[in-house]
Amino acid sequence: MTQRIAVLGATGSIGDSTLAILAAQSHQYEVYALSGHHRLDKLFALCQQFLPKRVSVPTAAVDDFAKRLSSAGLDIDVVGGEQGLIEIATDSQTDTVVAAIVGAAGLPSTLAAARAGKRILLANKEALVMAGKVMIDAVKTHHATLLPLDSEHNAIFQCLPSAIQQDNTQIHQSEHGVRKLWLTASGGPFLQQSFAQMQQASVAEAVKHPNWSMGQKISVDSATMMNKGLELIEACHLFDLPEDKINVVIHPQSIIHSMVEYSDGSFLAQLGSPDMKTPIAHALAYPNRIDSGSQPLDLYALSGLEFIEPDLQKFACLRLARQAMQAGTQATIVLNAANEVAVAAFLNGQVRLTDIANINEQALTDIQLPPLSAAADIEDILAIDQIARHLTDKLVMKLVQ
Ligand code: NAD
Ligand code: MG
Repeated sequence: MTQRIAVLGATGSIGDSTLAILAAQSHQYEVYALSGHHRLDKLFALCQQFLPKRVSVPTAAVDDFAKRLSSAGLDIDVVGGEQGLIEIATDSQTDTVVAAIVGAAGLPSTLAAARAGKRILLANKEALVMAGKVMIDAVKTHHATLLPLDSEHNAIFQCLPSAIQQDNTQIHQSEHGVRKLWLTASGGPFLQQSFAQMQQASVAEAVKHPNWSMGQKISVDSATMMNKGLELIEACHLFDLPEDKINVVIHPQSIIHSMVEYSDGSFLAQLGSPDMKTPIAHALAYPNRIDSGSQPLDLYALSGLEFIEPDLQKFACLRLARQAMQAGTQATIVLNAANEVAVAAFLNGQVRLTDIANINEQALTDIQLPPLSAAADIEDILAIDQIARHLTDKLVMKLVQ
């Protein structure tokens, strides 16, 4: 049977990789809906290529986009804004939602997909960093399926016993012998450079990742290693483990995508070329396998695999993520919001790359909130997110003056 897919964030880097697979596997998958926020010309071209039934654009662009489609003879329903994203994520015709919007903007639609019991292929790690418990509870209550696209989490998922894969929201360590998870990190473009050099980094240098080609925000997050911090929090929620059961190791070649350590001393790893098409194809076809179109790994050409302990002074964001995870959800929401604001300020040329960690730390110190109650819902989460963005804007203004 054909799986009908809604790709949220279709115009981004994960969107590109997903649609490349869907184009090659069109006998199995139907592109039912697409969304895009920027680059609407690209979204238009995707509509011409994939002929989805529905498309979501920013509210202000709905009328123009609808006219443009109909002038081209395309009969596609156009919806707008956050509500539009929620509509296509929960549409009764949608089987699978690829959650590939960047940042907090992806949370409401991803959560709505969980509450509609959909199969969710999750790239939008920020949704779990902000609302891990709410998301996982929604997945359980509404019998949704959550499959990680983030390469590290997808690797861990693949290395876990099938009993846990069937219910990846609970690892019973004693029953399954899982001792630790090991998240691998490339170390980003500044691994071999000093902190002083990192301080002077231009935007172009910061977004030039050595192994992966990705969107701008995640590329900056990789340069500061905030990405690994967010992934640590993501892994705690996805695999129901405390942060001290999850180690981070720098592996500059990005060949081992992560590992599971078992109590008998076994380490299971997933290897592959650094290409997001592999984890995306895995999650699309799970529990089967399909061709992803990625280059197979050439083991004869590999000269060596290195493993290095991260320097938490140089990459303070990683330390902050552990600290926030220990403090509770209110702190991980603050960290995520502060980081989004700080990264945008860096991309706008307002602050230095190394200011991002300072801004994040200051936000965590200044915004001391009581732990969220067990009944906290998305409104409570978004309220903290707004407070944190507002305060971080002020921190950025102070630095700029
Ligand atoms: P990107 O910047 O290339 O694309 C982001 C997509 O989100 C675009 O389609 C954009 O139009 C849309 N978008 C942006 N702001 C929006 C808003 N306010 N409302 C609605 N849509 C909006 O980003 P990406 O690299 O594809 O990353 C997407 C997500 O996947 C991020 O959460 C990232 O952390 C995660 N991820 C990416 C990679 C990768 O290799 N690119 C790997 C792992 C995880
Ligand atoms: Mg990753």
